Amino acid sequence: MTKRFSGIAASPGIAIAKAFRLNNEQYEPTSDKVADVHIEAERFSQAVEEAKQELEQIRVMTEQRMGAAKSEIFEAHILLLEDPDLIDVIIENIENDHMNAEFALHEVANSFIEMLSTMDNELLRERASDVRDVAGRVMSRLRGVSYAAVSAINEPCVLIAEDLTPSDTAQLNLDYVLGFVTVVGSRTSHSAIMARSLEVPAIVGAGAAAADIETGTMIVMDALEGSVLVEPSDVELTDYHTRKAAYEQRRSELRKLLDQPTISRDGHRVELAANIGSVEDLQKVLANGAEGIGLFRTEFLYMGRNALPTEEEQFQVYKHVLQRMNNKPVVIRTLDIGGDKELPYMKLPVESNPFLGLRAVRLCLNKPDLFRTQLRALLRASSFGQLKIMFPMIAVMEELQEAKRLLQEEKEKLIQESIAVSDNIEVGIMIEIPAAALAAEFLAKEADFFSIGTNDLIQYTMAADRMNETVSYLYQPCHPAILRLIRMVIQAAKKEGKWVGMCGEMAGDEKAIPILLGMGLHEFSMSASSILPARALIKQLSHQEWAGYSEEIAAMSSQERIHQFVASKTRSDLI
Ligand code: PEP
Ligand code: MG
Repeated sequence: MTKRFSGIAASPGIAIAKAFRLNNEQYEPTSDKVADVHIEAERFSQAVEEAKQELEQIRVMTEQRMGAAKSEIFEAHILLLEDPDLIDVIIENIENDHMNAEFALHEVANSFIEMLSTMDNELLRERASDVRDVAGRVMSRLRGVSYAAVSAINEPCVLIAEDLTPSDTAQLNLDYVLGFVTVVGSRTSHSAIMARSLEVPAIVGAGAAAADIETGTMIVMDALEGSVLVEPSDVELTDYHTRKAAYEQRRSELRKLLDQPTISRDGHRVELAANIGSVEDLQKVLANGAEGIGLFRTEFLYMGRNALPTEEEQFQVYKHVLQRMNNKPVVIRTLDIGGDKELPYMKLPVESNPFLGLRAVRLCLNKPDLFRTQLRALLRASSFGQLKIMFPMIAVMEELQEAKRLLQEEKEKLIQESIAVSDNIEVGIMIEIPAAALAAEFLAKEADFFSIGTNDLIQYTMAADRMNETVSYLYQPCHPAILRLIRMVIQAAKKEGKWVGMCGEMAGDEKAIPILLGMGLHEFSMSASSILPARALIKQLSHQEWAGYSEEIAAMSSQERIHQFVASKTRSDLI
């Protein structure tokens, strides 16, 4: 009988193949002493050297396949192999205590990992898995075995693993690895993010059921639904082959919409833009037919490093994005640090409620020098394209006015320095705090545009931490309260002749798009891979018809009821 289980659909697609179980078993070395400590220390140093060369090869390969940002992790791994707190301590243990190299590595790496795993700081905790990865690689060199079994895969398979380290993911040969299923992980874990950028189907966090699968077992993984079938029947296999073919057919049909504008069945035009976090994301943005950038999360420029980026560094990045987008609109959001996004090197005070604390524009107004540097970089870049500047987490009018005042001051300084600045920069805000949504009619007088940040708007409206899985049932984009706030925001902006976009996850949600189209949302900004499916959907919808449903929808009391309504109407729309 077919066994079924489910996990988190982290990267879409369907794969049908035999399972390949990646063995991440821990090797336990013996504590035997060695006689010649110099030979042993030399053997260890040699293994470290070989591991470094291996990592350098992976780094280059990753840079070519996935861009410089994704390859940085391997630079960090190489640096770990030069870290005296790790390497010198191991050599001391060999030389002073006659430990064998494997045992010394095992002991020192484990105490490092234990220490890092108990840290409060999430970045340091993540560092523990880097140490584990690097130590495993050196251990394999010492033992003369191949470290990453993934590199040895030479026939089509669905990879099953406890988790995939960044180096595993980077070495996947996609001619053979048709998809992967992991026991642990979330939508935002390393392996999930890598899977999406490689466009390989992935299901993560599938739990113990995945851990039981043996190599050679036939598997169907449906990463559209997040379900896995173990030893499917012939009927199920045929069914999934058909679904896979239909999915692939749909993907190739969608490519026909690449260069088309997004126009509803009745001729209403909207803009489909992309969310990005780095310049490396641009390639996919352009390959998926985005009409602009609706959100550049600039905080990623500040993260994963030891010091603030300089004005020049930022300028180069913003200029590059504007130039690559070739005069299409680019909304760059100023720094949104705080909440779950930390900058350890800034040593900000610990807060008991970081999502309600000194986050985003609040932090920037509290540290004007930091803010002014970013504003100057943005202003200098403005003459290279169609820049729109957006402030996150605006709650009250005074914050917007103060942020605009600083922007104006920096602009005047630059003009005095004879540096070119565009005189056509729109300045908008994110609407992601309920107070801002409710007071949108006032903010609309001061802002050139709004972009609704539903990820936060939902968390703050429902009082449900977006990081806490146990309350994730309260993430309800189509809850009547959320729809009312959104409608209010769109109407307030319209009254002032301003445009409204949405850059939270909801903008790419097919159950919400018809309602948002009917409400008159102008711009939908989403992850690049959602753009073509959204364009196909909008082309089949009628703006007028969905505008006409708005009163009916406003009278519905739950998300479930609203979802049913949308499903019934879109089904008949799409026939
Ligand atoms: C949002 O809150 O919806 C948003 C787009 O911003 P972020 O997810 O970066 O907080
Ligand atoms: Mg937000």
